[in-house]
Amino acid sequence: MDTVVITADRAITAPGKSRGPTAVLAVDGAIMRVGDPNDILADPSARGARRIDWSRRAIVPGTVNTHNHSFQSLLRGIGDDLPFLEWREKALYRYSPLLGAEDMGTAALFAFGEMLLHGVTTVCDFYYLNAQGNANATATIEAAKRLGMRIVLARCFYDWDGAPASYRETIPQAVANFEELAKTYQDRERFLTTVHAAPHSQHGATPAMIEAAAGAAKDAGVPWHIHLAEEKYQVEQSMERFGAPPLRAIAGLSVDMSQKIAVHGCWFEADERHLLAERKGSLAYCPGSNMFLGDGVTDIVDLVARGVNIGLGTDGGCSNNRVSVFDEMRMAALLQKVTKVDGQAIDAETCFALGTKTAGQVLRLPVGVVEPGYRCDLVALDLDDPSLWPAQALEKNVVYALSPRAITDVVVDGREVVSGRRLSHVPSDEIQARVAELTRDWRRD
Ligand SMILES: [Zn+2]
Repeated sequence: MDTVVITADRAITAPGKSRGPTAVLAVDGAIMRVGDPNDILADPSARGARRIDWSRRAIVPGTVNTHNHSFQSLLRGIGDDLPFLEWREKALYRYSPLLGAEDMGTAALFAFGEMLLHGVTTVCDFYYLNAQGNANATATIEAAKRLGMRIVLARCFYDWDGAPASYRETIPQAVANFEELAKTYQDRERFLTTVHAAPHSQHGATPAMIEAAAGAAKDAGVPWHIHLAEEKYQVEQSMERFGAPPLRAIAGLSVDMSQKIAVHGCWFEADERHLLAERKGSLAYCPGSNMFLGDGVTDIVDLVARGVNIGLGTDGGCSNNRVSVFDEMRMAALLQKVTKVDGQAIDAETCFALGTKTAGQVLRLPVGVVEPGYRCDLVALDLDDPSLWPAQALEKNVVYALSPRAITDVVVDGREVVSGRRLSHVPSDEIQARVAELTRDWRRD
């Protein structure tokens, strides 16, 4: 049995819940008690525990990144500021088919390592470079395991023949590969690795492929993810092809909408937002990426009011170009406020929840809250960092002012994965050298 006690001077245990001196007792990665350090250390079950001392720091829940494409970190800067179709041709479709399993491992170490340093403890990697097998997805999962990060591998179902061959599968291939990956990696005890299904989008997957993915997800008892209504032209395409806007078109298929995680939804109409709420679907929201690409603005204020579970996502490292969920909290708040022309449209506590508690709910994982019953995923923030002063408004400052420099330590499932601002298990030098070698001849032109 691995028992650990982590102590700190302050804590935010959940949205709107702050504390003074705090200790967290965890056994085998599960939080058993949270309270005053004197009480926790006197608990007989804490006897002989490992101690992690976060003096002059604050404990906050590890952040949850509900949408990412890890390999895209390799393309950062390569296609920036280009029109989407030009970016897709000159960067994505040019370089991504060249990547093998070892390269995917390099990309994942890079993306996930950088995320850990920014306080992300759970990442959902929406994975579409499958090359008709599981070697690439496996290398990605193994990279997360090596770093000590919690991962959801959302394995893509893709059959649009306009994309490179390495993206595409037949329906039987996609289902069989998904089932094999899920059988190998689904961790129902500690939830360190889970496998979800992910029909790419209305343009990347045929209706039959989307139904097959949702069916495979149902059989595996997991949710399914789909990009929807990211750009305006996708709404027009959906009207042309299916006679309905994106969410209505999907709802018309034979799928379980309550297990659906829509990604983006920038152009959802009011009746689609109503439908998402009514069918208990969730949303992965990527404000930084939506702004970077000029996609549009999802009406989060309305969706929160309707009770839809929303989790923040960074999206790929070449469409943001940051990988911080704390940054997305700020982006979400600012984007909603300016769009509504209302400084009170959304508050810091709501945005903090979107990156922690409700993001965990979106992914159906017991993470994002520092309370018994949740996994022990924690981030330490340096209270001596000026970006968190004055200290009395800690949660507001975490959302609106936090510098990544203040993120000092990270624990995933009770285990230290970042210590003193350095990755604990994989040398940064190794990752840097591998990324430099792999991308040495890549060009913008
Ligand atoms: Zn995406």
